[in-house]
Amino acid sequence: MIRLTCRQVIARLADYIDAALGGLMRARVSLHLLLCSECRAYLETYRRTIALVGEAGRVEMPGDARHRVTRELLERLRREG
Ligand SMILES: [Zn+2]
Repeated sequence: MIRLTCRQVIARLADYIDAALGGLMRARVSLHLLLCSECRAYLETYRRTIALVGEAGRVEMPGDARHRVTRELLERLRREG
């Protein structure tokens, strides 16, 4: 099983949280999260952001807002690494 890079994991976080990933990809993302504390931190940030938006609007987070979070996380990753 080929390991995912942090960038690949973060690009899939939204689908991972939505349980929209297929079994194999989900397993690969889970494995990466187990081994990588940085991506676990990104996952936490992501979940917090979604929770905040959910509380504020009481609606499902719109797709473009989700993509914005993903983009911000990827940019942060680029800057840091
Ligand atoms: Zn990682």
